Amino acid sequence: MSNAIISNTNLASYDYIIAGAGGAGLSLLHYLMESPSLASKSILVIDKSFQKTNDRTWCFWEKNISTFENLVHHRWNTISIHADGSDKQLPTAPFSYKMIQGIDFYNSVLSKAKIKTNIHFQEATITGISVLDASNISKGAKVEWEGGSAMGDYIFSSLLPFQMNQLATAAAYSKSLQSSISSNKQAPFLWQHFKGRVVQFEAPVFNKAIAKLMDFNVPQQGATAFMYQLPLNEKEALVEYTVFSANVLEISEYDKVLDTYLANEYSGMKYSITHEEIGAIPMTQIALASTVAPIYTIGALGAAIKASTGYAFQFIQEQCKNIVTQLEKGLPIQTKVHTTRHQFYDAVLLDILFHHKMEGAEIFKRIFANNEAATVFKFLSNTSTIMEDIKIMRSLPTSIFLPAAIKVLLRRA
Ligand SMILES: Cc1cc2nc3c(=O)[nH]c(=O)nc-3n(C[C@H](O)[C@H](O)[C@H](O)COP(=O)(O)OP(=O)(O)OC[C@H]3O[C@@H](n4cnc5c(N)ncnc54)[C@H](O)[C@@H]3O)c2cc1C
Repeated sequence: MSNAIISNTNLASYDYIIAGAGGAGLSLLHYLMESPSLASKSILVIDKSFQKTNDRTWCFWEKNISTFENLVHHRWNTISIHADGSDKQLPTAPFSYKMIQGIDFYNSVLSKAKIKTNIHFQEATITGISVLDASNISKGAKVEWEGGSAMGDYIFSSLLPFQMNQLATAAAYSKSLQSSISSNKQAPFLWQHFKGRVVQFEAPVFNKAIAKLMDFNVPQQGATAFMYQLPLNEKEALVEYTVFSANVLEISEYDKVLDTYLANEYSGMKYSITHEEIGAIPMTQIALASTVAPIYTIGALGAAIKASTGYAFQFIQEQCKNIVTQLEKGLPIQTKVHTTRHQFYDAVLLDILFHHKMEGAEIFKRIFANNEAATVFKFLSNTSTIMEDIKIMRSLPTSIFLPAAIKVLLRRA
């Protein structure tokens, strides 16, 4: 079927409905458009706004040429970690740490999709997604918005119950979860929350070859916090104050730390702020949604975020590629991207952070001190071997790792 058809219920009907056209929705759309057997399927893409802005930058590490290599805005082959007077630089080879600007990604996928006659767009706030007949998933599912609705054989939703770039909605969501996350039986829930600025200095101040991945010499907020600094050239960098904690901060608190950091690091040097980004990324293994076929969750809603780090972009790519392969082969849809083994390590690290058994600065300092950056990147990408995992985990004292590991195992039993 290449065009939407009107069913006997008078609803337009599509092969696929993509509910939410952000990182995951547009990645899925990209892989569908690239698929020889699925490219002509009828697809409805719904988002509350297609007027996209540069609301986020995606960074990730990769060995190979990226699917979106043409969009890579900058890359680094050395990272640095700073904690407690220790400054460590690590070459990332064979990986590169890459940055894609959100707006380039949105524009690239949307401009290709908009010229296809089988791809339809609906700008609306979705109010409901439901299965038509629970006993027969082949009947499809329905998406509703104010003043309209449509049916799809498959629905792929990335509609979170909060907005990752609006801290107030994240704070409200935390409140709604309060009783369940304070219970010891539940998996922990932290936010990776941050405010970043692209700063432009008048004189050269940055080493553009080195991505400062974590500088823990900042207020820790009683949790784990670091400055993340990605130089784009010698005068310009994204500088982001990032915190892993149960509650987000007031905007003024991130600004205060950023002001102080920039003043201390580059004293007397003038700079202007050319762009800002804000985010609250959930770090948890608590399911953010429960759905039934043929409604599938993708992206942050679909557990693509790595719970111990907040990184998601590469996992979203893997998730969407897998979905397209399954659709091509007519297989049941399986959206899980994190292996059970790596989910276990994520749960242990998250448990240690959540219960303050060891501060994040110490954990990451030890991991990067005892391992090559490439091994850490493999571990964080869920592609490490068991031997590499053991070496990484041995970077932590047994007295910290073991009780957390046992707790996670008992929680799962
Ligand atoms: C500022 C920021 C920076 C990040 N940086 C990185 C990074 O460097 N590396 C990394 O790996 N990950 C990063 N992440 C995490 C993750 O990769 C991104 O959040 C990614 O965008 C998640 O994709 P998604 O599709 O799940 O959510 P989104 O990209 O947020 O997409 C959800 C879409 O749904 C739409 N929507 C929501 N509700 C409705 C509704 N009711 N009706 C209609 N439409 C709706 C929204 O408008 C949005 O377009 C970052 C996140 C943020 C917020």
